[in-house]
Amino acid sequence: MANYVASIGMEVHAELATRSKMFCRCPVAFGGEPNTRVCPVCLGLPGSLPVPNRQAIEMVIRTALALNCKIAMHSVFHRKNYFYPDLPKGYQVSQYGETNPLGYHGWLELANGKRIGIRRVHLEEDTGKLMHLPNGGAGVDYNRAGVPLMEIVTDFPPDITNEEEAKDYLVELRQILVWLGVCDGKMEEGSLRCEPNISIRPEGTETLGTKSELKNLNSFRSVQLGVQFEIRRQAATLDAGGTLLQETRGWNEANESSYAMRIKETENDYRYFPDPDLIPMVFDDAYIEGLRNAMPELPLAKSQRYQRDFGLSIKDAERLLQDRETAEFFEEAVAMKGDPKGICNLMISEFAKQLNEAGLSPRQSNISPAHLVQLANLLASDTINSKVGKEVFAEAFKSGAMPDAIVDERSLRQIDDHGPIVESVKAVLAANAEVVERYRGGQTGVAGFLVGQVMKMGQGRFNPQLVQQLVREELERT
Ligand code: ZN
Ligand code: MN
Repeated sequence: MANYVASIGMEVHAELATRSKMFCRCPVAFGGEPNTRVCPVCLGLPGSLPVPNRQAIEMVIRTALALNCKIAMHSVFHRKNYFYPDLPKGYQVSQYGETNPLGYHGWLELANGKRIGIRRVHLEEDTGKLMHLPNGGAGVDYNRAGVPLMEIVTDFPPDITNEEEAKDYLVELRQILVWLGVCDGKMEEGSLRCEPNISIRPEGTETLGTKSELKNLNSFRSVQLGVQFEIRRQAATLDAGGTLLQETRGWNEANESSYAMRIKETENDYRYFPDPDLIPMVFDDAYIEGLRNAMPELPLAKSQRYQRDFGLSIKDAERLLQDRETAEFFEEAVAMKGDPKGICNLMISEFAKQLNEAGLSPRQSNISPAHLVQLANLLASDTINSKVGKEVFAEAFKSGAMPDAIVDERSLRQIDDHGPIVESVKAVLAANAEVVERYRGGQTGVAGFLVGQVMKMGQGRFNPQLVQQLVREELERT
């Protein structure tokens, strides 16, 4: 058995989150009655003329900038010719060439610092969808035909060398797209589709092996499993003295295995040529610089800043960076002079839990950044303990009342005075003489029960550390 090195290229298609299609005014939406969002342009009827969607072009350029690409200041659309029933025009409008795509020669940085080279980011249009009909026939739904589609392709030769990196790349890329608002990232609805190509070569050799491409992967998990499966399948074939074909393979989710679909077309088969119906796109520096300056801080940079400036762990930072709204909410609270660690703790525990149960996003809830700042301060100053903090949060979440007001109204401030606590300790010990005997007989573990009883008497408001200390003192007094 030889040792092999894998090379994995990633081709990602992302449907852009525009309101209308790429070259017509038909709306973009998921699902619905087939063939209800179509017109002569996206059906490719003779005589119809396409008009490019400016917003889609801008989304691709913004993505290209986020991926550290060069921008093609002059860029054209090509026709990619092939026949398939889901492609009404008989060609797909796409972008061909090395430096013609809107973005080219960039990179994406993984959390571990490794850079994955990006070869191109280009703009094209989606195809329709073939579907099986209840009567056993087949139909085509053209609602998706002409939806703006961005294709992002990694460098050749590839930088990704295993299934874990392939998944990490996709996770990170998806986060950036969602962050920029250019794609909803819904893999289960096909908004984001990934086709990895995989080849292996014996360790110590340079020439890349024959690659296979996997189609129809619709989750991070299937990308990871699919790449792993292909690496193993190819190694087994080579070890057995077999030859690999350059082919496109499907992924069977249920069996977790791939199957041959077709021998891969070469680029020449597509007969690319510039689309004569579409004028070239020409940009000036001011336009591109304007877009560059308006770029939001991206998730990886934010994560690094949260760790550096706020002392958060990478795990905590990443939880705050699940989506842009959550991150902005957190930053607003910190800007109000809140304690970052305390606010983070509230956000990833109580707040996240309540939002999840209610099916709301932070801004849709009754909680504002000011609520978090107040509650974090109440906890940090020991004005209330963490148990009361949960109650206060639940009440604020329900009614929108401010934590300070809830604490005052319900007299929830923590009691730190020895007087009332000692009184309760004495009462509890007197009422539990048998337990006290057991303690004095050496079963010191029963102290916890007594502490709980005292806390109950104090309705959760007694300072827990003080209660523990006073219970011990009282028990040790003979
Ligand atoms: Zn249309
Ligand atoms: Mn494509």
